[in-house]
Amino acid sequence: MNMLELLKKMCKCAMAPVSPGTDEVNRLAIGELPFKVHEYPTLSEHNGWIVPLNWHAKKATIHKDGKLIYDGMQHPLGVMGYSKSFSGKVSLEELKKHLSYRMDLPYAIGYHCDWYYKPQNRNWGFSMPYSLYRDLQSGEYEVQIETVSAKGTMKTLDLLIPGESQETIILNAHNCHGGQANDDISGVVVAIEVAKRLMKKKNRYSYRIIIAPEHFGTVFYLANLDEKEGKKFKYGIFLEMLGNNNRLALQKSFTGKSEIDRAAMNYLTHNHPDFHHDEFRNIIGNDETVWEAPGYEIPTISLSRAPYREYHTSYDNESIIFEEKLEESVKAVMGILNILDTNCAIERKFKGLIALSNPKYDLYKPTVDPSLNRQITKNDIQWNKLMDRMPRYFDGKTKVLDIAELHELDYTAVFNYINQFKEKKLVELLRN
Ligand SMILES: [Zn+2]
Repeated sequence: MNMLELLKKMCKCAMAPVSPGTDEVNRLAIGELPFKVHEYPTLSEHNGWIVPLNWHAKKATIHKDGKLIYDGMQHPLGVMGYSKSFSGKVSLEELKKHLSYRMDLPYAIGYHCDWYYKPQNRNWGFSMPYSLYRDLQSGEYEVQIETVSAKGTMKTLDLLIPGESQETIILNAHNCHGGQANDDISGVVVAIEVAKRLMKKKNRYSYRIIIAPEHFGTVFYLANLDEKEGKKFKYGIFLEMLGNNNRLALQKSFTGKSEIDRAAMNYLTHNHPDFHHDEFRNIIGNDETVWEAPGYEIPTISLSRAPYREYHTSYDNESIIFEEKLEESVKAVMGILNILDTNCAIERKFKGLIALSNPKYDLYKPTVDPSLNRQITKNDIQWNKLMDRMPRYFDGKTKVLDIAELHELDYTAVFNYINQFKEKKLVELLRN
């Protein structure tokens, strides 16, 4: 299935950390790729995190004077996530204590997920449009919420794509936000598409695609992972909110200085000049805290198109998703991974100055020749400076990404230029 078709199927599901809706999303994902499924029993505890029960809503109505006021089953967000069952008559005052709404988007239904993470606060409740809440009249209301909270297992999907090295890059997205498309089914379908493309080529690093409920899925995955496996994790990318019509946003890793931060900065600067970037947790919060947690400290960046107006509401549906934005996101991930995959030091096989313009080398870029009738650009000047300094970078230590950064040039263009030196047998690329 292509990304948009898969997204349309997945985002309608009534997802939760553990729910039949999430099982359906997982079935669709497994239909695309041979994921391994790790299962963790509900109510398991680790570091204070408790796997929620297998939950779903069956019935959710509010009547007044025999008339249906609200049916919470009209949308997966209509019942507050992890709501208890309740049946009885309540006053308007009491009812209002059990209603959640979004004043900023009065016709949307908001996403309420607090109780999954704070089960001690569980109660019953509806999420409804503020426009409806605002017009509720005083009187007696008949409430019927029937939800199922059962034992079961939480699932973490895990696909390993082996590379030349056992060092592994994690691509992670979450599958627990009921009825929502951009957050984060867009990340799920982008991760699946990236995996399909990685599987078609030879890779230096190994990759692991992890699709799981936010925080719970990755916390229990790491906690139950063989110590040796965890040591192989080199970098991570959290993929989220990648289908809406917005510029790309790079959130850096905890240190902000790792090779994956630098690769992402270079790729986006030269391919998406309108992108924005910020420090760790300054754009959006997800499972990067899990991968970066002490004892693991896996540098994990996050790629998204945050912020967006429809976030955490029923407006986050397929109507705000654009196929070309999903595709552009896939290309950006592949571009960043390509830098990591090819970045290496270069060793020279010559001594002294090479006449780059000699046809037998043909490595001269006549960029700032005044006899050329064209405007000299900043890029021309950058290339000219690079050409003058390049031979000294072939020292067996300086890497392609270092050179691209020093000269504020696109990594791929620099890499292709260095490859021309290799074709002329002037250098060797040190890939280890
Ligand atoms: Zn979210």
